[in-house]
Amino acid sequence: MDVLEEAKEKGRLLFAKPCEFVLGAATVDGIPAAELSEIAFAGRSNVGKSSLVNALTGRKTLARVSDTPGRTRQINFFRLDNRLMLADLPGYGFARASKSDSARWTELVFAYLRGRPNLRRAILLIDSRRGLLKNDIEAMELLDRAAVSYQLVLTKADKLKPNELDAVESRVAAESVRHGAAHPELIATSSVSGQGIPELRAELAALAST
Ligand code: GDP
Repeated sequence: MDVLEEAKEKGRLLFAKPCEFVLGAATVDGIPAAELSEIAFAGRSNVGKSSLVNALTGRKTLARVSDTPGRTRQINFFRLDNRLMLADLPGYGFARASKSDSARWTELVFAYLRGRPNLRRAILLIDSRRGLLKNDIEAMELLDRAAVSYQLVLTKADKLKPNELDAVESRVAAESVRHGAAHPELIATSSVSGQGIPELRAELAALAST
């Protein structure tokens, strides 16, 4: 087996292990104590974050998949095999969110990002049909300011033709190099076709506690 296949196999094995919901934190005080290596998932409401967490863990209903964007206002923590904590951050950019909702989002998420020594990487999800929107760039700037290492991952890749996907990948990669804390490798995923899921599992398994 070559190195990449071996990494994917490790990813497959880890993500086949039991994954359980730990708790949802609606305020900074509710955030659980830092223990395992942690990965945070962030993105606009409706980007396909719940679907991706479910695809990674091979479960249909672990993270709630909702057609009503913006309703999840808390950070949901899931423990994978006592080796990795997955933190599902509340979606941003919900059109009908009020100013005070947006301020609460920033306060909770920034406090979490700043105070999390076990956070190994944030995965920032970008809808491949839309590319980087203004609030995605703002999220990147927040991650830059919080000095959190993060990686951009495209969702819903099945919705685009290969040449369209190439074009959006180039544009996103070009923006990403302007951000110091952004990990250079971009992964295009689809929760529907499974594209990119083994690669993302492999990346995350390499960051897990041993
Ligand atoms: P969240 O708000 O970011 O958690 O997004 P959801 O996971 O609830 O997904 C939002 C919508 O996009 C739902 O209607 C999903 O069925 C759809 N969706 C999510 N991932 C994919 C994908 O990979 N491909 C396609 N075609 N649709 C997706």
